[in-house]
Amino acid sequence: MRAITVQPGKANSIKLEELPPPKANGALLVRAVALGVCGTDRDIIDGHYGWAPHGADRLVLGHESLGKVEHAPAGSEFKAGDLVVGIVRRPDPVPCPACAVGEWDMCRNGQYTERGIKERDGYGAERYALEPDFTVKADPSLGLLAVLTEPASVIAKAWDHIERIGERTKYWKPRQLLVTGAGPVGLLAALFGAQRGLEVHVFDRNTDGPKPELVRDLGATYHTGDFGNLKPDIVIECTGAAPVIEAAVTSTAADGITCLAGIGAPGKKTPVDISSLNRAMVLENDVVFGSVNANRAHYRDAADALAKADKNWLARLITRRVPLDRWQEAFERRPNDIKVVIDFTA
Ligand code: BGC
Repeated sequence: MRAITVQPGKANSIKLEELPPPKANGALLVRAVALGVCGTDRDIIDGHYGWAPHGADRLVLGHESLGKVEHAPAGSEFKAGDLVVGIVRRPDPVPCPACAVGEWDMCRNGQYTERGIKERDGYGAERYALEPDFTVKADPSLGLLAVLTEPASVIAKAWDHIERIGERTKYWKPRQLLVTGAGPVGLLAALFGAQRGLEVHVFDRNTDGPKPELVRDLGATYHTGDFGNLKPDIVIECTGAAPVIEAAVTSTAADGITCLAGIGAPGKKTPVDISSLNRAMVLENDVVFGSVNANRAHYRDAADALAKADKNWLARLITRRVPLDRWQEAFERRPNDIKVVIDFTA
């Protein structure tokens, strides 16, 4: 079977290679349908991130999966033909207190593994094995759009934590949401905000292309330049860009919550007046927190949110579908790309 592999730490080592088919060993055998490409994959390809499995020097890339079950072990809740999504992270083996209660997204010792990213082969192969406990059923009505489940799970986790933080006050009734960055994660964050009935604002530097209209079609407002007079109760920061982060954090209303969900390249020093920031945060009870990954409950929330979203709107997030034969094209950055997907069925 064909698989997309990289040598982590070595830029441009990506290739399509022939690998032996997976062994089930009590897991589901899955045939790939689609694979989403994200910034983390590009970081791994550029040699900045990623770890091969122990004892190997190459990693099968890919963590945004959609597959069809070919064979399910007897007694599992899955059957041949089911459309499924694989969870990315596996708990650390110790396990830490978070992983021990199924919250591997909150792993405390960093010994978690992630398919396609950290020490476990990913889903960028024609077939793979998937443990039933780390598999989520996709809503069949979504078809290929269910490949958005993994990025949506990351946002479902962010929302779960925002809402838990919000409940520190008895009155909490957020009104305004600001999302910075209109990439796939930002647009999904805005979708979740719209589904919660919030007044949604999305900031991005692109002035044309499909993003402004996608935002408007959610009933939300698209901003470029600056945030104007916004006083958001919630910010979901998806750019990872220092000046945007600073502007976002300092824009919130009192009792504001900023969730940092993007990652930027380290190394650029940006002067920040920490004392002013401290003053603003203390005197307004602001919370700024980081959020990564997702646990099983978040994948379920993600599947529910996608199932109730407008399918035509979701379909517009997938701006390119590239057949596996032309896999290199999937990793090219092209203007107006939002989510690029490798189609294993084409
Ligand atoms: C993935 C997460 C993962 C994170 C860090 C993201 O692209 O969506 O599941 O935890 O990268 O490796």
